[in-house]
Amino acid sequence: MAANQFYVIANHLEIPMDERDRLLMPKRAITVSCPIHRDDGSVAVFEGYRVQHLLTMGPTKGGTRFAPSVDIGEVAALAVWMSWKCALAGLPYGGAKGGVTVDLTTMSKRELEALSRRYMQEMIPFVGPHTDVMAPDMGTNEQVMAWFMDTYSMYQGQTVTEIVTGKPVYAGGTLGRREATGRGVAHLAKRVMDVLAINPAGATAVIQGFGNVGSYAALGLHQFGLKVIAVSDHTGALYDKGGLDILALMRHTDQHGSIAGFSNQLHFDPAQVLTLACDVLVPAAMERVIDAKVADNLKCRILAEGANGPTTPEADLVLEKRQDEMFLIPDILCNSGGVVVSYFEWVQDLQQLFWEEEEVMRREYQILDRAFEHMLKRAKADKISHRTAAMAIGVEKVRAAKNTRGLFP
Ligand code: NAD
Repeated sequence: MAANQFYVIANHLEIPMDERDRLLMPKRAITVSCPIHRDDGSVAVFEGYRVQHLLTMGPTKGGTRFAPSVDIGEVAALAVWMSWKCALAGLPYGGAKGGVTVDLTTMSKRELEALSRRYMQEMIPFVGPHTDVMAPDMGTNEQVMAWFMDTYSMYQGQTVTEIVTGKPVYAGGTLGRREATGRGVAHLAKRVMDVLAINPAGATAVIQGFGNVGSYAALGLHQFGLKVIAVSDHTGALYDKGGLDILALMRHTDQHGSIAGFSNQLHFDPAQVLTLACDVLVPAAMERVIDAKVADNLKCRILAEGANGPTTPEADLVLEKRQDEMFLIPDILCNSGGVVVSYFEWVQDLQQLFWEEEEVMRREYQILDRAFEHMLKRAKADKISHRTAAMAIGVEKVRAAKNTRGLFP
């Protein structure tokens, strides 16, 4: 998917064939085995990966995913998207991504800590505050980032908070990082509502995935006055046409880890969540959930891609035909609030000077608004889709940097 999307952009930008591999091929792809002691005393080995897409713009930056689906291909695609995302937002980073193939439901907290620490230890030769900076993604959280930071620091003999972002605030994290991605999704959706003259009071939203991104996107939209009528996660879905109580649902998921058990009355078919009629639809769970058939059946006015890669290239063709009915906020813009505030965290850690939350939010929205305007202008000027416009801006910036720096030796 990531390669196909790149070729669409490369054709649009008429990038010569001999430049394309240099832009697309990952600079480094690292595979490690991570042995740990299980609680029963046996030894289990997990495969871990890290792909650093390009080193042209500065250090690489990207999340670490702990999930059964993780493989080197998935990680590479996510790393490529991160590069265009960082370039679109104007951050001094190339893209990276990492992960471990693991089913977390089979792990105790002690085993998770052992795996997190061993993964970071295996990565030490390849990462660093000015080489590659990790962050959370699916299946990892502030606690895992704190273990990563602690492990790296133990090896350096000093505390190096700037090695990862998404840490707890009391361990070198920044205010506003936990909320940053979801908040950014809600902020951009609200901007589009302004463009389309949709009144938030009385408007509706549907969210797939109620983890970090989905829950804070739901909260942000709820605070703008929208009714969040449906929410789903890996355990099921909830529907209430009067609007779900998002704060109560967040308290429930904090305590129980999922939306299961929140209500006996509000159950809904998770397979139908994406195609519910609503003003704002936020896929915030995983890749490739919107295929051509789902795209044909979408009934939202705004598709705000909180997840990375939720829409297949075949679905994109359908969305392009339907762009007068449906406004797409593509993933590399829509969820970029996360990496933007991760960048702020890195900057604050390097300077040991910490900002107020209002400052973090103001600067986050400033960067998102600038990227949004840039995308809109480009899409209109070139008569291209929002995704093509957003990616074209990112690819162009990387290409310009590569060409200006030249090719060593
Ligand atoms: P998370 O682990 O906190 O939450 C994932 C959510 O998706 C959970 O609620 C889970 O139950 C749900 N889910 C899993 N499988 C599902 C299914 N089949 N149907 C419905 N729901 C399902 O992860 P997250 O950090 O919120 O990340 C979600 C997406 O957003 C990922 O694509 C990630 O790459 C992307 N993203 C995250 C960030 C960030 O800052 N966390 C930033 C940018 C992009």
